[in-house]
This record gives sequence, C-alpha cells and structure tokens, in this order.
Amino acid sequence: MNEEGISEEKIYDLLNQKLEKDLDYDTGKILGSMCTKPHEFAIRIFSQYAEKNLGDPGLFPGTLKIEKELINEIGELLHGKNIEGNIVSGGSEANFIGVHISKLTHPNIKNPELVCSSNAHISIFKSAKMLGIKVQEVKLDKNYLPDMNDYKSKINKNTICVIGIAGTTSLGLIEPIEEIAELIEGKNIHYHVDAAFGGFVIPFMERLGYKYPKFDFRIKEVDTMTADPHKMGMAVIPTGSILIRDPDIIEKYGFTIPYLAGGCYKHLTITGTRPGASVIAFWALIKKLGAKGFQKIVQECWNNALYLSEEIKNLHGVDLPVPIQINIVGIKNTTKISRSICMLDEQLRKRGWALGVFKNLNLARVVCMPHIKKPHIDLFIKDLKDIIKDLGKNYSNKN
Ligand code: PLP
Repeated sequence: MNEEGISEEKIYDLLNQKLEKDLDYDTGKILGSMCTKPHEFAIRIFSQYAEKNLGDPGLFPGTLKIEKELINEIGELLHGKNIEGNIVSGGSEANFIGVHISKLTHPNIKNPELVCSSNAHISIFKSAKMLGIKVQEVKLDKNYLPDMNDYKSKINKNTICVIGIAGTTSLGLIEPIEEIAELIEGKNIHYHVDAAFGGFVIPFMERLGYKYPKFDFRIKEVDTMTADPHKMGMAVIPTGSILIRDPDIIEKYGFTIPYLAGGCYKHLTITGTRPGASVIAFWALIKKLGAKGFQKIVQECWNNALYLSEEIKNLHGVDLPVPIQINIVGIKNTTKISRSICMLDEQLRKRGWALGVFKNLNLARVVCMPHIKKPHIDLFIKDLKDIIKDLGKNYSNKN
C-alpha cells in the first residue's frame, strides 16, 4: 500500500494502463462468453445501492422484500408459484445450493450419488466433490444429448439427485427434462434443473412462438432450478438465482448467523455478505424492460445465431455439430488437413477472436450475446474463410 493517497486522475491513468489488455464486449470479439455488457440502467442502479448487504437482511428489510419479489417473478417466468430462493453470485453457487439441498434432504443415504450427463457444467462436478457425492456421468448420444438408457441405468438406491440442463454450456441444447422426470417418478430423488443460460432465453423464445418441451416448474418432479440474470438477463455481475419449490427448505435446513446486527435469518447461500445492489438492479431492470423488452433482446440474439449458423453450414471446412436450439452456435472443424478444433481456434485467437472451446467434444461455440451484432459476425466469417483458405485448398468432406 502506498503511504500517501494519490489523485483520482492518476488512479484512472494507472487503471487505464493496467486494464489495457482486457477484452471489450463492444469490439464484438468476445464470441465465447455467456456474459455480456450489463444493461446501462442496471449498472446505474447497481452503483447507487452499493452499500446494501443481504448478508444481514434484518438491517435491509426493504432490499430483502425486493429479493423475495424478484425470486417470485423469476419463478413465475419458469412457471412456478410462490417460489423460494435467493439471488446468488452466479450459476455455480446456485448449482451448489441445488445439489446441497439434495444432500440435506437425504441424510440417511450413506454413499450418496448424483446422476448427470457429461454436458453438466463443471460446477455440478465441483459441488458433488465438495459435498462427498459420487457422480454417475451419463454418456451423450450422437446429438450431444444424454443417452436415456444410460441415464436410467445410472439411477440406483444411492441416487439422491438427478440433474437436467436447459441450455447446455457447450451447444445450448435442452436436455429431455420431462423424460428424466419420468425416470424418477415416485422415487425420493431430488431433481435440479440447470437453466443458468436457458432460463432467460427459452421463456422468451416460447413467447416468440418457438416450441420446446417443458423444462421448468411445470414438471412436478423439478425441485430446484438455476437461472442466471447475469447471462442473458443483462444484469450486472454478480447476479445468479437459485429457485426452490418447497417453501420450507430454507427454514428447515438453513444456517443462521447468530451475531448479526439485524437479527437471525436462515440461509443456504455460500456467501455471508452478499450484494443487495445486484437484487435491486435486476428488479429495476425487469420493471424497465418488461417481458417485451427481454423478448426483443432474445429475438435479436436468435436472429444473429440463425444467420451465423447458416453461414457455418454453407462454409467448406467447418460445420454445425447439431442444428441450433437457442442462441448458441457450435462449430466443428471439417477441414481435411486437421479435424482439430484447437488448430482452428489457435488461428482465430491470433486474429483476436475469443471463442469457447470444448476439447472433449472437439468443437467450439459462439454464444450470440446481445453485444454481438451482425457486422461482427460478418467479420468473423470473413476471418474464418481466410483461415480455412490458409490451412489448405481441399478441405470439405461435405461434397
Ligand atoms: N450452468 C451452466 C449451464 C453454465 O453454462 C454456467 C456457466 O457458463 C454455469 C452453470 C456457471 O455459471 P457461473 O459462471 O455464473 O457460476
């Protein structure tokens, strides 16, 4: 720490220097992130309420009430009634809480197991490890969806939790949430649906007239869900949400911090001190945009994703792994010179493009977030064409 304080102007200079290498959403080069530039109104509200601490909710009853309203609204978006839960730091924490609840509600299973497909986000595996739960990983079929025979075979007397994903991290696919529910019907198994990404996409795609199988609280077996405002909700980071159907879970299993100035409140969040500003800002953003506003954002992202997927389909040397379901576009390398996605990604990175690469599936993906516009996609396609050309002449196995 410096002995004397320095001027704000100097600090801004220093920050500009230090942050110079950070990528910027506005360049359109960040193609592989599920986050985006938060909505300007949300940023403004967030900065006005920075001191609100939901780690001590008794001191901030107004903020707490807003959190309850917000959870209820997100729950309703996902067809739940009087849903409980919290605004948390993101999808990883929400997934942890969902998995943790499965452990808390099954105290008598000595060797607990969780079943999820290999599409599951790393946070599911991390949570299971932290909680001493064995993961039974279900293999994927040729469409990158869980093999349902394998899923069924992995459920046994030790299974305390099954996971379904509505909007997979790699390809944005919606796993068969209802079919997974059928596998556990009548069994005492917790069902957690990870809609961290899809939660703020699929409901608006449905409003636009697209049809998807049910994926949310409409399915009675679904106990908890993750849905992240800081992904397609355009909220400030950190804003995630854990949604809980049973209104008694937090009261029954929650922890209390005995010394708080505002009094005792039960909670299942990992964090103690947590930002009320995230809650207030997203509540305000929902009021401002309304369902129609979010629908418009999703429509634009979807149009860009459709456009990109058509370009990829028509380009020799790359292909779509599967048709797109939401605004995530997968890319396979089909050049004859190398089928390695890493080779393609390396060249793209040299030109400043930051995609998400899934080495295990040998594919990359572009998440068409609100900061990505059609001219960015045109530039990307142009670079992709140049790279493929550079890699050799006869690439395609399509013809
Ligand atoms: N779940 C899914 C499906 C995700 O794609 C991600 C992140 O990309 C997460 C959970 C984790 O979210 P976070 O990075 O906010 O912790």
